[in-house]
Amino acid sequence: MTAHHDKNNNNKKQWQLATKVIHAGSGHDDPHGALASPLYQTSTFKFADADQGSARFAGEEAGYIYSRLGNPTTHELETRVAELEGYEAAAAAATGMGAIAACTMAFLRAGDHIVVSDAIYGCSFALFSELFERFGVHADFVDLNDTDALQQSLQDNTRLVFLETPANPHLKLVDIAAVSQVIAGRDIRLIVDNTFMTPLLQQPKQQGADLVVHSATKFLNGHGDVVAGIVCGSAEDIALIKGTTLKDMGATISPHDAWLILRGLKTLDVRMQRHCENAEKVADFLVQHPGVRKVYYPGLADHPHHHLIGTQMKHAGAVIALELEGDEAQARYFLNQLQMIPLAVSLGDAETLIQHPASMTHSPYTPEARQKAGITDTLVRIAVGLEAADDIIADLQQALTASQQRWQQTA
Ligand SMILES: *Cc1c(COP(=O)(O)O)cnc(C)c1O
Repeated sequence: MTAHHDKNNNNKKQWQLATKVIHAGSGHDDPHGALASPLYQTSTFKFADADQGSARFAGEEAGYIYSRLGNPTTHELETRVAELEGYEAAAAAATGMGAIAACTMAFLRAGDHIVVSDAIYGCSFALFSELFERFGVHADFVDLNDTDALQQSLQDNTRLVFLETPANPHLKLVDIAAVSQVIAGRDIRLIVDNTFMTPLLQQPKQQGADLVVHSATKFLNGHGDVVAGIVCGSAEDIALIKGTTLKDMGATISPHDAWLILRGLKTLDVRMQRHCENAEKVADFLVQHPGVRKVYYPGLADHPHHHLIGTQMKHAGAVIALELEGDEAQARYFLNQLQMIPLAVSLGDAETLIQHPASMTHSPYTPEARQKAGITDTLVRIAVGLEAADDIIADLQQALTASQQRWQQTA
């Protein structure tokens, strides 16, 4: 599957990420010389003869069989993202959760134990705390910045440590290298969910991650029209995932979605620059606004893990959480005043998106668990988009002003 352009590019390892988002990976071998990636929208592949069919099934001959097992468009995406993250291989999945389930379950059996960051995406939390428990895998949720607590949580049957940084809802950061040092020398894989950062802002492999997983629904695709996931790792680990959990549980990506993500990826570098610039401006606006009690953004000097910016991560990214003055009704009133910014979950899209974690993304939590996690009724999350920063700020400003007026009248 090597593309003809490979032979001219012996220096491709030196390419910068801005180039790699466009050129990295296997490329494609379209017989007509198409510039854009051909979309192999096919479920199955014809064998030239019976010998070829059996040879492919036996693994004696490379080549495609059936799209749940592999597809040329999907392969092009996998090789590109693997190279961006610095790994040998990748496996694309139908959703971020499909990738997370596939890359964890491939390494687990009943009786195993896993350690998970205490700040984690809601469905990852449900997968590890509820579903895994039913199959005899126990998860302990630990503050991974507390190396003593991490050390104490490790057992002889611990097989995985799973973390996400930055994480909802308060943009908590985890020092990946510190975690990796604690588990070094043990038979434990470190898996990092890099969705909020993308490989352009953070490459967890450099800090010792064995596998990196993404919801490609978010920044990687970037256009809000796909749900997908991808996991990157060693050739051996990815072959195992593809050959077991992905193949037999079947959360494989649609070639059409892989094609859309390849298209979205080309602009990842310019998009991330704009996302980050806009987020800084929005955070600076929010901190000085009297209607805002607290802003959670790793780029602000008062963020507890601000020191990881410039070392582990190139930039704080484009997701901001804020605590509004007032009560829940006030927060809901504020959200309803927004004119341009859509009220929607997800992140990494061209549109700035805003949502209310307590009643939306984190509503499956019990009220007690929400309180423990600091998810108050006045907490709002903004995924800063690509619009002109001034227009994003103007919309937030008018909604904050309107809701402050309401608050003063009711107080
Ligand atoms: C959205 C998200 C997921 C889940 O991805 P889907 O594509 O929605 O399945 C996992 N982790 C993080 C950090 C996310 O933001």
